[in-house]
Amino acid sequence: MPIEFEAPKPIVQTQFVLKTVAEEMMRTHSRYFDEHEHESPWDYIEFMHTAMKATGVGSLAPKEQGNGHEGDEKKEKRPPIAYQALAAQIEMLAWGDVGMYLVTPGGGLGAAAVQAAGTPEQKAKFLARFGDDKPTLAAMCMTEAGAGSDTASIRTRAVLDEKNKEWILNGEKIFVTAGDKALTEYEKLGRGFIVVWASIDPSAGRAGMRAFVVEAGTPGVKVAKLEHKMGIRVSDTAAISLVDVRVPYDHVLGSSTVEEKSTSGFKGAMATFDATRPLVAASGLGVARAALEFLKEKLTENGVQVRYGLPRQKLTSIEKDVIDMEIMLKSAWLMVIKAVWMADNKKPNALESSMSKVKAGDVGTKITQKVVEILGPLGYSREFLAEKWFRDAKITDIYEGTGQINRLVVARQILGYSGKELR
Ligand SMILES: Cc1cc2nc3c(=O)[nH]c(=O)nc-3n(C[C@H](O)[C@H](O)[C@H](O)COP(=O)(O)OP(=O)(O)OC[C@H]3O[C@@H](n4cnc5c(N)ncnc54)[C@H](O)[C@@H]3O)c2cc1C
Repeated sequence: MPIEFEAPKPIVQTQFVLKTVAEEMMRTHSRYFDEHEHESPWDYIEFMHTAMKATGVGSLAPKEQGNGHEGDEKKEKRPPIAYQALAAQIEMLAWGDVGMYLVTPGGGLGAAAVQAAGTPEQKAKFLARFGDDKPTLAAMCMTEAGAGSDTASIRTRAVLDEKNKEWILNGEKIFVTAGDKALTEYEKLGRGFIVVWASIDPSAGRAGMRAFVVEAGTPGVKVAKLEHKMGIRVSDTAAISLVDVRVPYDHVLGSSTVEEKSTSGFKGAMATFDATRPLVAASGLGVARAALEFLKEKLTENGVQVRYGLPRQKLTSIEKDVIDMEIMLKSAWLMVIKAVWMADNKKPNALESSMSKVKAGDVGTKITQKVVEILGPLGYSREFLAEKWFRDAKITDIYEGTGQINRLVVARQILGYSGKELR
């Protein structure tokens, strides 16, 4: 089969539509929401919900069986392109505004965790709401004060109340993206949920980890604090406390038993990240592309054109910088495409998924920094968005596994070491 580098037609068409959304609904409000942290872009949220419902997309969370393009896939006789489509959509929305992309209704990391770790019945039960009348968000709570990179150290506990067939959760989660919108913003939104990772048996280590769906409005769960952040300020990042939170028995995703030496619960967490890391990478590359395009526009306005095709020694320093950035951006994008192609073709992609995220984290940080540097005062001024993109880009290298942790995942995969052998 020949290798094609052009995006399939349905993807290009969707990108075209989303570019208008990015220009008209995101860019025009980027500065306002950056300066009014914790205000919500309701017009964008409601518009996206209506548009996704109308087109049958429903959710931007990864899905097993496509993203509303099943018919197209059959007609085109190509492998499913659900993840590839998702990566392209996310890149374009992040080009508009990555913080606003993070408040797009449809489930985000919470829905991705249900997809990765839930049974078919649980997927049907928890994910149907994203196609309902009201925009709805979900979130995933893994990180705790003493457990971020080292996910296996989580201290949140889940105890089974056998008599009532309920789980009782206690713990404190921090840095939960969209935690507030998933739990509390009821009047305008549909009923969301959070997926809480907890231990059902701390002595079992990773084998004791399980994910629980906690519906908004469940007694005992509350948003304790909202973070003030350097970038992505329109996206709420919540600390969530759980005090004697009771959830039905079937809200534990996948298996509820602690089989000896089984790490199926932990594997559910890792499967979530394998699915979402290339998408995080795509979002970071959207920010980098926005910055690079803006730089080129400003250079053109000032009579500077990049002379492609000249020998390197004949190029100016700025031309070399621009070309280097374009190479970085395109090579990082190819890594994303490889990781999502593998996901679409149901091939294990832990290595490629982490690689794409490492690369995008680096590239996003380098490009946005260089753009600010080359633009000088224009880059530093709040009159333009370059300084904001510089602040927004850094998160790609932090959440869903830091650059260091993803490098460890890559090294373990290549060298064949376990987590215990290389950490
Ligand atoms: C804006 C934002 C949104 C977030 N959203 C979510 C969310 O929705 N859900 C969620 O569960 N979490 C979320 N997080 C948390 C994020 O995933 C963690 O912050 C991240 O995994 C790092 O964990 P930590 O904060 O405990 O840092 P630590 O693990 O303490 O790491 C601190 C530093 O040490 C390095 N380090 C740690 N271990 C090693 C090692 N073995 N080798 C080399 N270096 C190492 C790290 O790379 C990092 O540079 C979010 C964070 C932010 C900032």
